Amino acid sequence: MEQSELMVRRIKEGTVIDHIDEGKGIQVLDALRIDGKDGSLITIALNVPSGKSKKKDIIKVENKFLKDDDTNKIAVIAPKATINIIKNYKLIEKRRVSLPNEIDRIFRCSNPDCITNSAEHIESVMDLIDKESMILKCRYCARILDVNEIKYN
Ligand SMILES: [Zn+2]
Repeated sequence: MEQSELMVRRIKEGTVIDHIDEGKGIQVLDALRIDGKDGSLITIALNVPSGKSKKKDIIKVENKFLKDDDTNKIAVIAPKATINIIKNYKLIEKRRVSLPNEIDRIFRCSNPDCITNSAEHIESVMDLIDKESMILKCRYCARILDVNEIKYN
């Protein structure tokens, strides 16, 4: 076991999101709408040493098994993340995140006149039109958006 894994206590049941790019852990939590308000035990480790002069963030959510639909949302934020499903202290499933074709909710459209920015509380829906350059297109106003310049909701 890597030393870094020992820094965060093992969990009996739940999901471990590992290899999140350094500094992106909080955004990943936001994207997954994980805030702990339901009483679930969540451990977040930021800037965990990972290999030679590298760092990563790790999130452990106990008693929750995150599905592909949920975790693929984070692929735009943390493309190297791995999802580990733990049952009875054992790793029973490990998977990579893969970029979805569409992303809902996570990002805010930069067009102030877009209906998703109006008082109507319509959640954003964006199509990932270029997975190499991470270019999104708002489904409501058709504005082209760069993931690296866009604001999180
Ligand atoms: Zn828009």
